[in-house]
Amino acid sequence: MLEGLQIERATTKKVKPEESKLGFGNYYTDHMFIMNYEEGKGWFNPRVIPYQPIVLDPAAKVFHYGQTIFEGLKAYRTKDGRVLLFRPEKNFLRMNRSNERLSVPELDPNKAVEALKQLIQVDQDWIPSEEGNSLYIRPYVIATQAQLGVAPSTEYMFIIIMSPVGAYYPEGVNPVKIYVESDYVRSVKGGVGEAKTAGNYAAGLKAQELAKDKGYTQVLWLDGVHRKYIEEVGSMNVFFKIGGVIHTPALSGSILDGITRNSIIHLLRHWGYEVEERAIEIGELYEASKQGKLEEAFGTGTAAVISPIGELNWQDEVLVINNGKTGELSQKLYDTLTGIQKGELEDPFGWMVQAAVFDSQLAK
Ligand SMILES: *Cc1c(COP(=O)(O)O)cnc(C)c1O
Repeated sequence: MLEGLQIERATTKKVKPEESKLGFGNYYTDHMFIMNYEEGKGWFNPRVIPYQPIVLDPAAKVFHYGQTIFEGLKAYRTKDGRVLLFRPEKNFLRMNRSNERLSVPELDPNKAVEALKQLIQVDQDWIPSEEGNSLYIRPYVIATQAQLGVAPSTEYMFIIIMSPVGAYYPEGVNPVKIYVESDYVRSVKGGVGEAKTAGNYAAGLKAQELAKDKGYTQVLWLDGVHRKYIEEVGSMNVFFKIGGVIHTPALSGSILDGITRNSIIHLLRHWGYEVEERAIEIGELYEASKQGKLEEAFGTGTAAVISPIGELNWQDEVLVINNGKTGELSQKLYDTLTGIQKGELEDPFGWMVQAAVFDSQLAK
């Protein structure tokens, strides 16, 4: 139990949407978690309250200088009535690394996980049960001090909201078409690319929009200096299977350290695959493809878990990967990771954390 946690239950409950109509990030549960920070006082007043708007001064620093951090993870309902979180401590450890970069005070990761568990217990009837659906969790920190000087805020809020979401692939895993972006960049070494902070995403919208206009689902980001080393795909990390070996860009300072990425590398090495984390030039892929060695490509992230890449367009040169079909390894990784997350496969690495047991189950 989180020390001093207050729980205020909603007196009216929202009508829950039909599970088939969830989509992503359209609905929110009945409650939220919130905690404040003040310089000299630290984090205080942790509370679960009814989901509601927050009131901020128009001068709050978050609106002007973007001092804000977010995280994203999911809770899954198992067939035997438990609620599982996938490596949640990793999200809050990463949140602290993002905080550090943005001069935001640290949070205790254990207390943050505890707060999340409490919130999940209060809103457990919101966790979808249909195949592939889950509860998406969005923890974030905002700078709330009403002061326009460019300096770290002396006041913050840490908030957790939760959204029931539909299956990312209602019709099964499907490869996407990706536009290799040569003009805009997502981040540069020394910048904030390693942090999950709002500015990175605002900066990426333009290129994403242009790619959509050209008929592509997402962009593949190249490095900001040479415009030739592969960084990420949209807001996912990226992997390539070349001649039986798995290659992924090394964490160079401008790439987000994905928890799915880390887990995929772990799983692949456990299966005996060679995984190389290194600088990968975009031209290499075209070369490997000509030699018939480019076997699979996929993005990784919490939302989709695995997103196979069927086609790349780099400066109008189109590269089709695995005939535009989902590769065998991509599918196996997807099935294994989602199987572990749903509690249907053995969890050999101790990744899953139980957040709650359904009341109906307890009563048995
Ligand atoms: C969140 C995110 C990822 C994926 O991280 P996961 O922890 O696997 O969800 C990758 N790249 C960017 C830019 C991200 O924001």
